[in-house]
Amino acid sequence: MSSSPTQQTIPQAIAHTQQRINEACQASGRNTKEVLLLAVSKTKPLSDVMEAYNHGQRHFGENYLQDALDKIEHCPHGDIEWHFIGAIQSNKTKSIAANFDWVHTLDRDKIARLLSQHRPAHLPPLKVLIQVNISQEANKNGVALEQLNKLVEQVLQLPNLSLCGLMCIPAAGQSEATQSQAFNAMATARDQLKATYAHIEQLSMGMSGDLNGAIACGSTMVRVGTDIFGARNTL
Ligand SMILES: *Cc1c(COP(=O)(O)O)cnc(C)c1O
Repeated sequence: MSSSPTQQTIPQAIAHTQQRINEACQASGRNTKEVLLLAVSKTKPLSDVMEAYNHGQRHFGENYLQDALDKIEHCPHGDIEWHFIGAIQSNKTKSIAANFDWVHTLDRDKIARLLSQHRPAHLPPLKVLIQVNISQEANKNGVALEQLNKLVEQVLQLPNLSLCGLMCIPAAGQSEATQSQAFNAMATARDQLKATYAHIEQLSMGMSGDLNGAIACGSTMVRVGTDIFGARNTL
């Protein structure tokens, strides 16, 4: 288990997390540069984001649109990449398409079409990842693995989306072996897509508690909140 982040400053916690990433990469013979650290700043104030930014952090993940917009508008523009990692409702697609660089939680055609339709013309295509419900949990977001190829084909038709990879949140409270099975299934799905579409290469998986296992199985983006910013606030 990682040490309590509350005793560290945010820059120290980022350095510590980066160290964990480096060690996990080393242990599985991977290059550290293959794994991007996404700082998940949901519920955290602008001052926390700016502290991380001033330490060199440039990729931030947010789940709640209004909470995110309050920060995005006050942050430096141009060199931060904002990643939407929360559940997406239709009525939020316009604002998400206009304010984010990445969406990790795409899981249905309707939302994909709305995001593409609302992506402003002056911006590059929105980078999207398809969320897979890899642990086959009832009432959980994400497309079933069996439905993945169909959604991939639909997303690839959309002019203002760029499909970059896959994302998952494995079921909580599973054994490490079960979790690795889920991560490996994701890697296999990504590899199969990548064989046909070379640009589908990202694998967004791994959070504070399961970062090592995710990296061992091929994660290219880890989404870390608690270990960087401490326990979440209520909104
Ligand atoms: C909150 C959240 C995270 C960060 O989780 P921690 O356990 O705090 O690191 C990562 N991914 C998603 C989709 C989240 O909602």
